[in-house]
Amino acid sequence: MLALITGAAKGIGRAITLQLAHDGFDVAINYAHSEEAAKSLRDEVTALGVKAEIFRADVSVQEEAAKMFADVKASFGENVSVLVNNAGITRDTLLMRMKAEDWLAVINTNLNAAFYCSQLAVKDMAKARYGRIISISSVVGLVGNAGQCNYSASKAGIIGLTKSIAREYAARGITANAIAPGFIDTGMTGILKPEVKEGILKSIPVGRIGEPEEVARAVSFFASEKSAYITGQTLAVDGGMTMI
Ligand code: NAP
Repeated sequence: MLALITGAAKGIGRAITLQLAHDGFDVAINYAHSEEAAKSLRDEVTALGVKAEIFRADVSVQEEAAKMFADVKASFGENVSVLVNNAGITRDTLLMRMKAEDWLAVINTNLNAAFYCSQLAVKDMAKARYGRIISISSVVGLVGNAGQCNYSASKAGIIGLTKSIAREYAARGITANAIAPGFIDTGMTGILKPEVKEGILKSIPVGRIGEPEEVARAVSFFASEKSAYITGQTLAVDGGMTMI
């Protein structure tokens, strides 16, 4: 079976790709800018004995997402059975200072891309009467965060999108679930100031920052047949930060 992971070259996407390859999936690795990292991930995954190929596409652009799906199909001769909507960016600032372009860039990349890719994926999944759509939300999509109106809105949108896909396609054997990571050690969080990190650490009952592999293991469950009776859910992988 084939899994397509958006924004797969780095951070959480990279860990998800490696986990799904370990699970036996062939993997389509999407990247926008990180070509070298994508190539090295492809080589690492291929060494595990599954098929892997890289696909450059800015998934926030509908035409590029569509071309990527066509290229993936042509390259693997197979439809995508597992889609992981992982690509994401931040443009943090307070509401009063947020420019429309900061709002739009984040909504386009984090939410609109998930819509484009999910729509492209369900066509074939519905025919196959099987599919898994897993979208990476965030705890801030559940509880909000000062300085992240755009990001929180995009991540809350992912949850609504997921629940609606789940309802529309449950009868066709397709599940849609979201994962809401808390504070995970990647490039996205690496840019935060030490005092900000200290403050966040105090709000994590487990008492440490999460690893990308810990998110990937939750994706692995939702990607498997073991999760067939779970759809429309959002699982927080956050060391107890939210507990909603
Ligand atoms: P990261 O290390 O910055 O990685 C982000 C990935 O998204 C990169 O691989 C990047 O690819 C890709 N990407 C960005 N814009 C793209 C586009 N237009 N088209 C295709 N790919 C694009 O961040 P991360 O922490 O791994 O984040 C992964 C996901 O987890 C995101 O959705 C993020 O919001 C979510 N998340 C992260 C945390 C955390 O604490 N780290 C917490 C909650 C949720 P290129 O480098 O090729 O551009």
